[in-house]
Amino acid sequence: MQILDGKETSKTIRQELAEAVQERKEKGQKTPHLAAVLVGNDGGSLTYVGAKVKACKEIGFESTLIHLEDTITEEELLAKVNELNNDKEIDGFIVQLPLPKHIDEKKITLAIDPKKDVDGFHPTNLGNMVLNLPGFLPATPAGMLELFKRYEIETSGKHCVVIGRSHIVGSPMSILMGRSAYPGNSTVTLTHSRTKNLKELTLQADIIITAIGKPNFLTADMVKNGVVVMDVGITRVEDTTKKKGYKITGDVDFESVAEKASFITPVPGGVGPMTIVSLMMNTLKAMEINQR
Ligand code: NAD
Repeated sequence: MQILDGKETSKTIRQELAEAVQERKEKGQKTPHLAAVLVGNDGGSLTYVGAKVKACKEIGFESTLIHLEDTITEEELLAKVNELNNDKEIDGFIVQLPLPKHIDEKKITLAIDPKKDVDGFHPTNLGNMVLNLPGFLPATPAGMLELFKRYEIETSGKHCVVIGRSHIVGSPMSILMGRSAYPGNSTVTLTHSRTKNLKELTLQADIIITAIGKPNFLTADMVKNGVVVMDVGITRVEDTTKKKGYKITGDVDFESVAEKASFITPVPGGVGPMTIVSLMMNTLKAMEINQR
């Protein structure tokens, strides 16, 4: 069994990105610039955005955090998005979700210029993904593709079972794994809360991707020997032995499933760290696109 070490892999990619930025600087070229819009003070969002801005600084990207009050109106936020769309300094930007209830997330997502949509949530980018055209892939699926590549895992002709159909992880991942590409060319089964015979399906899977947010949901009796497992789940589970009083747990019962798996991501340290570097990779790409 081999651990798919997202922490180490993401470090390597950060190093590569830092070198790419350094080279650009030496040539007098523009430094990639990511802006992150955060509305309100949701604890999780503050942490995620903070981590994204910090990652930018570490690799030499410019970053701007735009922290807005949760009383901001939809019109005001749309105006901000428009301003960022037209700001030549900013190569790509994200609007951290979720947004306060009085703001329509779809409207905001649609207002972002697809060329600056480094989260890859705009329908244009999702359409490009389906059509296998250039564009921005959502960060978490892109991070998983990168792990397949870096560990040279064969995906062609394999049966890939995706558990969970969210717009940001499960659904795009099911499309990406079925595309005529590498990683891809898998036979994909997309499962969700209404799936009746999940265990029957997972037992046939060569690759399992879980994105549901249910701790230890996938157990050893549900997988066959040699399976490749990518665990996207992140759930806080009470743990009095930890300083914080909780630990982060994935959707996979790691100890037992690891005994049967050929490759498996740990949680934490698997898919999570890859998500942030994917955003950085998208920002570098955005700069290259927008400079053309
Ligand atoms: P979500 O929370 O929006 O939706 C959950 C999905 O799980 C739904 O599609 C639902 O149909 C499915 N589901 C629920 N119970 C199920 C069951 N018993 N059997 C089969 N399917 C079931 O999904 P999300 O936003 O993709 O988040 C899923 C998990 O991934 C969460 O723990 C989240 O925190 C985590 N996440 C991690 C990253 C990362 O970077 N590692 C990124 C995004 C989300």
